[in-house]
Amino acid sequence: MDARTQWEVGLALPRQPMRALGPEFYTELIPQGLPQPSLRLVSVDAARLLGLHAPCDAVARAEWAEVFAGNRSGPDGTTLATVYAGHQFGNWAGQLGDGRAHLLGSFAAPDATQNSGHDAWEVQLKGSGRTPYSRFGDGRAVLRSSLREFLCSEAMWHLGIPTTRALCLVDSPLAVQRERVERAAIVTRLAPSFVRVGHFEHFAHSGQHDSLRRLLHWWIEHFEPDCAAADDPALALMQRVVQRSAELVAAWQAVGFVHGVLNTDNLSMLGWTLDYGPFGFVDAFDPDYTPNTSDRDGRYSWRNQPAAVHWNLHALAAALRPLLHADATSVRAVLDSFGDRFEHAWRRRIAARLGLSRTRPGDDELARGWIELLRRARADWTLSFRLLGQTVDGAVPHALRAQFAACEPEFDSWLQRWRARQRAGGDGRAAMDRVNPRIVLRHHLAQDAIAAAERGDFAPAQNLLDALRAPFADTPAHAALAAPPPADAPPAALSCSS
Ligand code: AMP
Ligand code: MG
Repeated sequence: MDARTQWEVGLALPRQPMRALGPEFYTELIPQGLPQPSLRLVSVDAARLLGLHAPCDAVARAEWAEVFAGNRSGPDGTTLATVYAGHQFGNWAGQLGDGRAHLLGSFAAPDATQNSGHDAWEVQLKGSGRTPYSRFGDGRAVLRSSLREFLCSEAMWHLGIPTTRALCLVDSPLAVQRERVERAAIVTRLAPSFVRVGHFEHFAHSGQHDSLRRLLHWWIEHFEPDCAAADDPALALMQRVVQRSAELVAAWQAVGFVHGVLNTDNLSMLGWTLDYGPFGFVDAFDPDYTPNTSDRDGRYSWRNQPAAVHWNLHALAAALRPLLHADATSVRAVLDSFGDRFEHAWRRRIAARLGLSRTRPGDDELARGWIELLRRARADWTLSFRLLGQTVDGAVPHALRAQFAACEPEFDSWLQRWRARQRAGGDGRAAMDRVNPRIVLRHHLAQDAIAAAERGDFAPAQNLLDALRAPFADTPAHAALAAPPPADAPPAALSCSS
């Protein structure tokens, strides 16, 4: 097969920026690909980021299916799998790496403003076969988890939360053994970079300090050129990563997103959400919520996410230690700044969600009171904020009152204070509706879409994607997707199996 046909989907020739680092950072290899691939979903928004038009006829769809199943090698026959390591659930796990992901390369971003100022997108296949880093894994991803990653990437982006993107989803009759036999699939992901904390840890923990230094300089050159001129570039980088990670986890907390596996190998250096596995959105609010059934101690529960990210940043600082000029006290000060940065970002987000972005004394207490009420009443996180916006200039909706049935007098008294505060200079309903999503990727919605997809029907997934692209809109056709899970829906309980 002519290798050049990969690029008939419209992509320009890619670069592989990581090649500049040297072969200890990756393995060049051809993806195993998927037999008889079908293109099931395309994110037209993500396609636009690469300057691509979503395919609109059968020929173009077949071409996309082949390319994004990994069945066409690149122009020079090579894609890359990179090596990293990580701490998993607090324990050193040693060498890991792209065990089922292949970097197709880096492609120009026609509009860098859509890419946090970065001028290129890395394009990566996930589920495209074994690599030297697969350990005991089969290199595959199943349709169920690929569809969840596809939908959630796009949902998060449209919620305004930094995240890797999903270009398209391809599946195949290839049978993959998990708890049951499932269909294989590949999600094509986009990010300015997929480099994780674990990439730095790998070279630090294996004593390859020259390579560690090269990685640092390469990273700074490509992604943080401002740090190059700092007295202590590694410390300047730490400051950036601490700030971005604090903002990211505050955004997760505020929208009720629980990542589920916040290991250092899943924490992006860019502060973007990365590696969607057993994630979930909080429905009835319980701070100890985690969707991941393997996480019995709740290490990565909603409540513990900020501490988990902070822990990972300590691991990054430890990895960078050989390159830091600063003494331990200065490094600690940077790490300690995480707490204030997180608090600041969290307060700002919750204040906006409560229509209190022009803050006044007493607002923090009001916000704390609301979160405590949500917890005591086990009220639905997403719905409660959204309905609260409607009470600014209207009666209290019955659906909101119902959420707080378990502590009605306290709710009434809180509401009275909040309404008084709104009259004294709140943001108003329209502003609240712009920050309080109506629709998030609730577990039961994902499950319904998966059940249909596994029968070969992708219409519900497409419909859900359409709704998640406009999470703040009041589109009547999507009303059913805004409802909390039905009482008889099984709770979100996901294993790491994917
Ligand atoms: P995750 O828990 O998905 O973040 O993955 C942790 C590590 O296991 C990474 O190095 C992955 O590449 C690898 N991995 C996960 N699933 C598979 C699989 N089915 N085949 C090969 N490697 C895998
Ligand atoms: Mg991972």
